[in-house]
Amino acid sequence: MTLRRRVRWAVAVLLVAVMASGVAVLGLYRRTLLRQVDTQVTALAASPRLIVQVGRLDTGRQGLPAGLAEVYVGRLAADGTWTTLLTPFADPATHPKVAVDEVLTTAVGRGTTTAGPVRTSGDASAGGTTGTSPSGASNAAGSPAPTVRVATGRLPNGSLAVVAVPTTRVEAALDRLRLLLAVVGIVVIAVAALLLWWVERLGLAPITRMTAVADAITAGDSAARVDPADLGSEATEAARLGRALNAMADATSASAARLERFVADASHELRTPLTTLRGYAALHRDDAAVPEATRDALRRIESEAGRMGRLVDALLELTTLDERGLTHREPVDVSALLADIVSDLRVLAPGHEVASDIAPGLVVLGDRDRITQAVTGLTSNAARHTPSGSTITVRGMAEPGEPGAAGAGSVVRIEVADDGPGIPAEHLARVFDRFHRVDGSRSSARGGTGLGLALVAAIARAHGGSATVESGPGGGARFAVTLPAVTLPAAPAPAAPAPLADSR
Ligand code: ADP
Repeated sequence: MTLRRRVRWAVAVLLVAVMASGVAVLGLYRRTLLRQVDTQVTALAASPRLIVQVGRLDTGRQGLPAGLAEVYVGRLAADGTWTTLLTPFADPATHPKVAVDEVLTTAVGRGTTTAGPVRTSGDASAGGTTGTSPSGASNAAGSPAPTVRVATGRLPNGSLAVVAVPTTRVEAALDRLRLLLAVVGIVVIAVAALLLWWVERLGLAPITRMTAVADAITAGDSAARVDPADLGSEATEAARLGRALNAMADATSASAARLERFVADASHELRTPLTTLRGYAALHRDDAAVPEATRDALRRIESEAGRMGRLVDALLELTTLDERGLTHREPVDVSALLADIVSDLRVLAPGHEVASDIAPGLVVLGDRDRITQAVTGLTSNAARHTPSGSTITVRGMAEPGEPGAAGAGSVVRIEVADDGPGIPAEHLARVFDRFHRVDGSRSSARGGTGLGLALVAAIARAHGGSATVESGPGGGARFAVTLPAVTLPAAPAPAAPAPLADSR
């Protein structure tokens, strides 16, 4: 899980926890308030003094304990007759819904009912006696009937003393708390959102950008750097990390450049002495005055100096390609270029079967010599690393480009396939590496430098393309170079060459 997702989850969990604790506080507060009311109501209902006084009273407040402004006291006779003795309700006929035989020693929540003709729902039997009007009924004044906490006590004459306290104050207190919690909740959400935005902007967004830059560097864009403007405040860890990343990339680029320069200089410097060496060796290898053994040694010196010369040339070309890329680009007719290479190959590899299948009109924008060098590298490899009599097939075709890839919409694919021994699976991933050889002794004996395929890959890369290889367990290798295709502006069409598909 990404850090960003974790932070979001943490904030979401925090918000849920805050909301849950709000709901818990609300419930706890409600229970506490109701318990206080219940204690008052049951204490009053159980008070013998009150009950005796209620038994004596007809109506009015005289003789009742003080502090009962909120309390309803009524008497419910055995025949169902209500006498309201004390009421906080505006409608004097309002009394709790209690049945004649209900003795409630602990307070319970009840609705209230009113006498009189005003009813919102038609239960005529409610008639202001036993409280059967549905919850939500209105009293005579039209306001919703209040709910009450009610308890009863038995009077000496058999009637019930009914004590009730409306929960209006409790509800009002709860409403105030709800409002407070809602305001606190909104403030907490706003603060959390602000915090999230702040953490993302200062910490996570720069990390995302740095990751993209690191990916770009890994993919070969050695000039990619984190923009200091993207890193925000200097003091943050992200900004320091970004600067460290840039410094590291600078140091790596500088050391790679130094190494490339050194290899280029060394290769360049080695060329002249090597040429001299070969010259002297050539001069004396056929000299009859020189003993045969020495002449043989001179021939070997010349051959090895030649191989070393090719190696030095390949190294120089590789570093030049890495350093400067292509020096020039022009539209290259790949179809014609491949046809020439196939013709040359028939002469250069007389022991091999050469087949071709080249689509006409394949054009790329690039360096003709470099493309020729890459394809001849592949064909000469196919000739060198396969036994005589093997078939080498050169193909050229247009293909749709990878979706989202840079460059033109289609690519030119050049394939050089053979039916030789192929390349073992464990070497496939590394054959394009510099100096990687599948069979070192055999390859160098065949005059290879170990840099041929690295050069092919570098040329393909410099053109914005790629080089790949496939080889199955049944043998045979299929190398492919893919280059971005270009569509040339319409010109007076030369007679289209027929597709070359022949075999010798
Ligand atoms: P080299 O100069 O040794 O040929 P390359 O970079 O051109 O170096 O090739 C690397 C290795 O890949 C070679 O040593 C060879 O073992 C293997 N290889 C290249 N082409 C073929 C092929 N067509 N068939 C089999 N093996 C091949």
